[in-house]
Amino acid sequence: MIESIEQFDAVVIGGGVIGCSIAWRLGQAGMRIAVLERGSVGVEASRAAGGILSPLAEADRADDFFRLCMASRAMYADFARELRDASGIDIEYRTEGIIYLALTEEDEEELDRRWEWQHRAGLNVKRLNAECVRKLEPHVNEKLRWALKFPDDHQVNNLRLAKALEMAAQKSHVTFLTHTEATSLLFDGSSVRGVKTHRNELRTDTVIIAAGSWSTQHLEPVESQDFHIVPVRGQMLAIEMPAPPIQHVVYSCRAYLVPRLSGYLIAGSTTEHVGYDKRVTAGGVNSIIQRAIEIAPGLTEQAMIETWAGLRPKATPAQDEGDWPVLGESPHTRGLIYATGHYRNGILLTPITAKAISEFVLRGESSFNIRPFSPKRFTADLSL
Ligand SMILES: Cc1cc2nc3c(=O)[nH]c(=O)nc-3n(C[C@H](O)[C@H](O)[C@H](O)COP(=O)(O)OP(=O)(O)OC[C@H]3O[C@@H](n4cnc5c(N)ncnc54)[C@H](O)[C@@H]3O)c2cc1C
Repeated sequence: MIESIEQFDAVVIGGGVIGCSIAWRLGQAGMRIAVLERGSVGVEASRAAGGILSPLAEADRADDFFRLCMASRAMYADFARELRDASGIDIEYRTEGIIYLALTEEDEEELDRRWEWQHRAGLNVKRLNAECVRKLEPHVNEKLRWALKFPDDHQVNNLRLAKALEMAAQKSHVTFLTHTEATSLLFDGSSVRGVKTHRNELRTDTVIIAAGSWSTQHLEPVESQDFHIVPVRGQMLAIEMPAPPIQHVVYSCRAYLVPRLSGYLIAGSTTEHVGYDKRVTAGGVNSIIQRAIEIAPGLTEQAMIETWAGLRPKATPAQDEGDWPVLGESPHTRGLIYATGHYRNGILLTPITAKAISEFVLRGESSFNIRPFSPKRFTADLSL
């Protein structure tokens, strides 16, 4: 039974880092905003993540997606400062950089290719010999041949990021309706007119879908869906920090270690197409532990603290490797805006997504060109 009908300038569906950051920006601009979150804020992919901000470490070409990632990374230092001032929460933005290890001959070939194009493009990537790496990170495997260092690829604590965004948005008078699921959208012809939940109806001309892996479940009529967001499971674990502590994010071609200031390491991850199954499995944990120990053999002696899994939201049919998010208005429904499909880079892409989508809502266009990421890219008719 509908208990109430309320009016908002915009309704955001999903209280992960993407939904909260957009709501914060729109709240700052004086709009009346509601965030609908069917559970608690920030507990899905946004909580599961490693918090690595790495446009360079994994990039093999300079395309539109690479430029989006670089633009977001460039915003992070100011974003973290502004967020701390607005929320009182330090998101632990760390600038030690990423070290990427070549442990085998195949790793050398992969890293050689990455170094070649990035060095030629004038990007900030350095080659380090094994001795130099061991001075920086004494725990790395004796098998190390050499490594790349990405000094400008940084990290944040994503748990703190989600909390800070929620607090900052609340201080900008955003209404959070938690434990409230959006069950369907309301339409008037080809315009959106609101959102229905089990309890109430929210009336609005602007609905922003930021529901992560669930963004295309139930929320739009199936016949007008040109794309889907599918979940890709990633398992993670936390390990007690060895002494002396690891300082950098350390990658191999098979795993990564992320040091957290509160004294533990995160090791990740798996990439599994198993639907909406968030279980941690023996096989998943086993593969992460083996690969983490390959990076730093001394971890064998460290205590395991926690395991978890989350679902990365991936847009399909996939462009490139499916890394491209979906940003912009639906080609079929006026006022229905997507901010989803951030897959492996949603923490990195939070500042640019919040800026671009809030600008689009406020002014009808974004200062950063988000057209390559528009949902229109999935339609056959590109003139839409
Ligand atoms: C293991 C793992 C490691 C990762 N590591 C990194 C990393 O190091 N760096 C990086 O940049 N990114 C990383 N990511 C990716 C990043 O976590 C995601 O891209 C990002 O969190 C997506 O944020 P989101 O707000 O779109 O989705 P989510 O955080 O999943 O939030 C979506 C929210 O919508 C809510 N919701 C869904 N349906 C409804 C509905 N109908 N009504 C109301 N609410 C609804 C959900 O409850 C959820 O809270 C990682 C992800 C995983 C899983």
